[in-house]
Amino acid sequence: MSKFASALVEWQKQHGRRGLPWQGTRDPYRIWLSEVMLQQTQVAAVIPYYERFLRRFPSIEALASASEDEVLQLWSGLGYYARGRNLHAAAKAVVARGSFPGTAAEIEELPGIGRSTAAAIAAFAFGERAAILDGNVKRVLARCFGIEGWPGEKAVEEALWGRANRLLPQNEIEAYTQALMDLGASVCTRTPKCSACPVSRNCSARRQGRTAEIPAPRPRRALPQKCVTWLLLLNRGQVLLEKRPAPGIWGGLWSFPEAPVNDVGDYCAAKLGCEILTKKKLAGLEHGFTHFRLQIRPLLCHVAKTPQLESPGRLWIGIGQARDAAVPAPVRKLLCRDFLHLLATR
Ligand code: SF4
Repeated sequence: MSKFASALVEWQKQHGRRGLPWQGTRDPYRIWLSEVMLQQTQVAAVIPYYERFLRRFPSIEALASASEDEVLQLWSGLGYYARGRNLHAAAKAVVARGSFPGTAAEIEELPGIGRSTAAAIAAFAFGERAAILDGNVKRVLARCFGIEGWPGEKAVEEALWGRANRLLPQNEIEAYTQALMDLGASVCTRTPKCSACPVSRNCSARRQGRTAEIPAPRPRRALPQKCVTWLLLLNRGQVLLEKRPAPGIWGGLWSFPEAPVNDVGDYCAAKLGCEILTKKKLAGLEHGFTHFRLQIRPLLCHVAKTPQLESPGRLWIGIGQARDAAVPAPVRKLLCRDFLHLLATR
């Protein structure tokens, strides 16, 4: 075992994170679920979602036979909803093939599972020697081995994968994999705690005093902005929600109808089957995606329903129920933030 790997394994035994709900199991379903939920999400935020999800879907079969609405409802609030949709699709694929795939290469073929996640599942569930390389691990390896450049560049990423593969120990792969994750999450963070690091002696960035420069940040570019008007249509304590098309942002989730700014009244009458009685602009909010920023302008309208235009993608629902439905975070925020206001102004 390399010095790097043995130092990490020893460190993990003493200082690694323990007692997390997804540790101490070889069940690939539970490991997979945790790995997907932990992408771009902190451990503390994941734990209640993970436990609730498993109570409702204790097996892959239970998940595969659920409706997408139910899966997204339980995912609601965790963000990055494509993860929930892919998890559901992958559960169906696993049930169709008859068993959970047994190697990292096969796991990677399931919907929504990337190379690093597949490797983590294979390492923890089957003890396979497979290299992980999530964002945290990229930071550790780039600093430790002085790999310059932005990790999103192809050449830098290839160098990191090469290093990650060469470092794999022959045994104790589970402890090593967990150690890398723990080190990246708790010690080699944006502001690293090098005095607590088991590989500090040989770390290139630390020795050169360049931990702030490595890895190089993503090249800056201004994100485009998009503006939408959301209609918070209120009738007898109910709001109108629309199911968003998939693929697309928040695909499969329930959201407020979007309207053209200039002819809201005509739009409501023609498309949504309701007549606006009063309308009021509410404070706007902004939501960031990786590739653009969304400016949301909410318009609260009290409406009378004209003979209803029934549509399977639309739903009048009580405000309290809407908050518990599979809705994106800004919709929930509006329902919570303006909930009392909505009722007070009926
Ligand atoms: S010594 Fe510091 S910069 Fe280097 S790997 Fe450890 S925590 Fe990261």
